[in-house]
Amino acid sequence: MNPPINPALIYLALFIIGLIIGSFLNVIIYRLPNDLSIVKPRSHCPSCKEPIQMKDNIPLLSFILLHGKCRYCPEKINLRYPFVETLAGILSVLLYSIYGFSLLFILLLSLTYMLIAITFIDFDHYIIPNEFVLIFLGLAVVAHGLNLIPINWKDGLMGAFGFGGALFLLGILGNWIFKKEAMGFGDVKLGFVLGAFLGIEWSVLTLFLSFITAAFFSIVLLVLNKISRENPIPFGPFISAGAIITWLSQTPGGGNYILNWYYTTMF
Ligand SMILES: [Zn+2]
Repeated sequence: MNPPINPALIYLALFIIGLIIGSFLNVIIYRLPNDLSIVKPRSHCPSCKEPIQMKDNIPLLSFILLHGKCRYCPEKINLRYPFVETLAGILSVLLYSIYGFSLLFILLLSLTYMLIAITFIDFDHYIIPNEFVLIFLGLAVVAHGLNLIPINWKDGLMGAFGFGGALFLLGILGNWIFKKEAMGFGDVKLGFVLGAFLGIEWSVLTLFLSFITAAFFSIVLLVLNKISRENPIPFGPFISAGAIITWLSQTPGGGNYILNWYYTTMF
């Protein structure tokens, strides 16, 4: 451990790793729901079909160097690509600043990366791919088996059935009130597997944060006049945001800043 590494370098390295993984997440977001191979054909410009060269495929940097446009035609590069990359980079740094280098950090970071992919796939296609649900389920079993998370398996089960069950009941209620599908079964499955990592108390917090972020997002869309019956808002992205905010609000002692604030304000 000598000489010590400059912490700024660790943050920078993690940010760059996040950017690179974010770039891979962009590929997954685009190709997984369309049943396209994730490794095989090289990416190409959707407009002029020109393959994207290695030097133009550097996360974030290429977008800036190319001024947000294709090298061969005037087509603008979708802003989402650099956004997803930057988001993955920032969340990598934030999670490390809270959890340090630990197996828990690696676990939460992996879950966060997958939640980013789930968020944008759900926005685009209104589905949460079962591949992710199964990976989460497997990781939950491993995490509890190896005691990687600070909750016991009973709490994990309560979280899973509490979170999944709450979404299931809300879905039934929503269908009854709106006479159409308000909450998909994908959301129920996502709530179930996330609850296994969160435990019951943090599941309640996550559900609450999901509603707050969904409400906030809906108001923004209403103001921008971008909401319509044909384009309903999926809920998976907000469940994902809620879980990530819950993990990011852990106190150094393993508690939670938002829960602490709630308990001291309300009681
Ligand atoms: Zn082009």
